[in-house]
Amino acid sequence: MAPVTAEVDLLVIGAGAAGIAAARTAQAAGRSLLVLEARDRVGGRAWTDATTLGAPFDLGATWLHEAGANPLTPLALGAAPFDHDTVRSHRCFIGDRPATAAEMADYDATYGRFHGHLAARRAPGRSAGEAAPQGGPWDATVAHWEGEVICAAPLGAMDLDDFLDTQLSGPNLLLPGGLGPLLESLAAALPIRFGAVVERVDWSAPRIAVEGSFGRVTAGALVVTIPTSLLAGEAIRFDPPLPADILQAAHDLPLGLLSKIGLKAAGPDRLDLPDFGGLERQVADPADPAMSFVAWPFGQDHVMGFLGGEAASALSGQGTAAFHAHALAELRRAFGRRAEQAIRTDVAAMHDWGADPFARGAYSHARPGRAAARVTLATPLEQGRLCFAGEACHPRYAATLAGAWDSGRQAAQAAIAATERVGSRL
Ligand SMILES: Cc1cc2nc3c(=O)[nH]c(=O)nc-3n(C[C@H](O)[C@H](O)[C@H](O)COP(=O)(O)OP(=O)(O)OC[C@H]3O[C@@H](n4cnc5c(N)ncnc54)[C@H](O)[C@@H]3O)c2cc1C
Repeated sequence: MAPVTAEVDLLVIGAGAAGIAAARTAQAAGRSLLVLEARDRVGGRAWTDATTLGAPFDLGATWLHEAGANPLTPLALGAAPFDHDTVRSHRCFIGDRPATAAEMADYDATYGRFHGHLAARRAPGRSAGEAAPQGGPWDATVAHWEGEVICAAPLGAMDLDDFLDTQLSGPNLLLPGGLGPLLESLAAALPIRFGAVVERVDWSAPRIAVEGSFGRVTAGALVVTIPTSLLAGEAIRFDPPLPADILQAAHDLPLGLLSKIGLKAAGPDRLDLPDFGGLERQVADPADPAMSFVAWPFGQDHVMGFLGGEAASALSGQGTAAFHAHALAELRRAFGRRAEQAIRTDVAAMHDWGADPFARGAYSHARPGRAAARVTLATPLEQGRLCFAGEACHPRYAATLAGAWDSGRQAAQAAIAATERVGSRL
């Protein structure tokens, strides 16, 4: 590939949701721009595998949460979004038997008590784990779901204020074709250089210079959207070094891990689970490596399985076969040998986000006492000449596509204003 030398108004690093939103904002404002993306595709942590299972399977982001306020909802209307909440059901196993109706009612009520309990104990610096109720028959199971599964990390690792401020409601939309194609279509008209791993940013001069083996690009302003895991790991060298509070903010917003696997039916047996039906099991310890499943979405012949937190980290790097074996063992707990006959052992779809060099995790949470880090990281430097964006920068929709998209838009607006102020527009 020929090295690139270019001069643009606005440069964007990363073509995930935040980078696409930033670039579209700059393009709509008539600015010259370039997006540098390390991978050979757009979408970042939103990526759909269209082939392995014979049906689209989202390897990363899956739902458009809180659809009424989600900036991607109006952009997804052509992709036949489906409100999962209208058909939501779940079954929970206690050992090898399904919970009774009375036990399920108690389980469901525990969620309401859990959230009320945490809200009543809100206090600066407290971890969500410290505030969580304990001792009830379902407390550990709810803590496991709310921590390891939903937030990709244990409740004890995350700040209570941040946990409460980033709670999401429905509707939760699923796209039959997956979220990857949506982001591809939104990026279709953008100038993107693929395979461009940014190694160095020199922001000492009025025009910012960005370098890597792809070449050198200068710009009036720069929006950086790489995950906080990479920012904290100093995967990109900044000259001069980033201010200490920015680097600290990246450290204070680590990425937990949620791993997702697609399992394919071997035959007609649907394990008595309805389409879109949820499957869980009761745990005695939130750190139990229990998996949650959503069966047969859109009537397709696959099941989505989720494993989060330290259990997911323990399997990261061991390959799809190890995760596949863990998922089958989980299903065997509920269905015995029937699971082995119902689910294929020779095919599975997954991506190891923990081992992915351009992600190093799934999505961010704030460490206890560090909820303000999201605003710190989102605050433009040098009046907008250098801006950070991405899911971790959003104090309300952190960890989601909505947060990534909105923060990308906001960063681009600040960057565009900066280029106007210093007259660095070409
Ligand atoms: C398993 C899983 C399930 C999820 N489920 C949901 C869900 O249901 N709903 C939801 O809203 N969100 C979900 N998320 C979170 C969602 O995927 C992210 O919040 C969102 O995609 C983050 O977008 P972003 O633009 O901030 O970062 P990214 O998508 O990570 O984009 C950053 C881009 O920067 C690139 N990059 C990195 N380093 C460099 C470099 N040095 N040079 C150039 N480019 C670089 C990366 O390749 C990447 O493309 C899930 C994530 C995972 C992993």
